[in-house]
Amino acid sequence: VAVALDDGRRLVADLVVLAIGVRPATSLARAAGLALGVRGSIAVDARLRTSDPDIYAAGDGIEVTDLVLGQPCVMPLAGPANRQGRIVADHLCGRPSAYRASQGTSVVKVFDMTGGGTGATEVGLRRAGVAYRKVYLHPTGHAGYYPGTRPMHLKLLFEADDGRLLGAQAVGFDGVDKRIDVLATALKAGLTVFDLEELELAYAPPYGSAKDPVNLAGFIAGNVLRGDLMQWYAEDYPAGVADGTLLDVRNADEFAAWRLPGAVNIPVGELRGRLAELADLDPQRPLYVYCLSGFRSYLATRLLMQSGFQRVANLAGGVKTFRLVHPSLVTAGPAPAAAGGAPALVGSGRR
Ligand SMILES: Cc1cc2nc3c(=O)[nH]c(=O)nc-3n(C[C@H](O)[C@H](O)[C@H](O)COP(=O)(O)OP(=O)(O)OC[C@H]3O[C@@H](n4cnc5c(N)ncnc54)[C@H](O)[C@@H]3O)c2cc1C
Repeated sequence: VAVALDDGRRLVADLVVLAIGVRPATSLARAAGLALGVRGSIAVDARLRTSDPDIYAAGDGIEVTDLVLGQPCVMPLAGPANRQGRIVADHLCGRPSAYRASQGTSVVKVFDMTGGGTGATEVGLRRAGVAYRKVYLHPTGHAGYYPGTRPMHLKLLFEADDGRLLGAQAVGFDGVDKRIDVLATALKAGLTVFDLEELELAYAPPYGSAKDPVNLAGFIAGNVLRGDLMQWYAEDYPAGVADGTLLDVRNADEFAAWRLPGAVNIPVGELRGRLAELADLDPQRPLYVYCLSGFRSYLATRLLMQSGFQRVANLAGGVKTFRLVHPSLVTAGPAPAAAGGAPALVGSGRR
């Protein structure tokens, strides 16, 4: 493949990535005097009629309503375009169908990896002023003892009050598309995180886990909304955790290889027998607990809460999420980095 630049240069490459974005090409509609919507899109009503009732519009060029945020937007995707085509056809034949909204469900393959999402992103929710909560988790695509799986990163966004789903994003290797599709269906149906806890999904080792990632997302989010689990977030570091003690509950070898500055290490398996080491702390002083994925620190958080510590929070998504927010503080790797480099995480196969 050769790329010809405007200045006459010719770049020969094995692979060319076009990352050019999308915008509605609506010069025809504009020239026809039709009303336009956001980002130059064609404004339509629920029947997909333009401002001229004899002209319909469907597909990438039209303005749609965002299912979660209720705001006008452009969502250029093939599924919505095809459904809109059916609705226009219905109208031409006298059937009053309506196009309600788009939720932006999408998936992409990047080499061996898959990324996908549905509904709102955190940035969109923040911009719209929605009161949301979020959880992160790193489940494997299918049961770990069956070959061919890797952990995925899954983020779930939900209403702070009632737990209704607002959005989800995931990136990983196997099973990402399936979880995004389940969550897209749940979001469309108006389900809550408590419904996700109860979803009965197909399980055999090559395909999933007895606790499916979607169930797990519901369990964690349910824990948060029921008050069983307080979370702290990578974005809180360092200012937001300066008032408390950082407690690292990974094993000693992991702690030796990399840790947050100032953290105390008590592995979760030893915690019950070593609570006395924390006894001198002011019970009002927060304990900010962390581990690699958020699982061991969840167990530790519950143990500490049941042992009388009143302000205990778990790092959402553990260091696996933390390192995405603070990449310069953490380098992933099986062994400590060479002197001078960022210290490496010891983590392969651990949670
Ligand atoms: C490389 C690529 C990959 C994509 N992959 C995905 C994907 O994996 N998943 C997904 O959901 N979406 C994907 N999309 C987006 C998807 O293709 C579009 O959302 C979908 O095709 C939109 O349908 P449409 O009918 O609105 O427009 P189009 O499919 O673009 O159809 C518009 C048609 O109108 C014709 N036309 C334009 N102007 C005129 C004119 N003046 N007179 C007559 N005819 C005209 C064009 O030639 C074209 O045939 C991808 C898009 C691209 C470019």
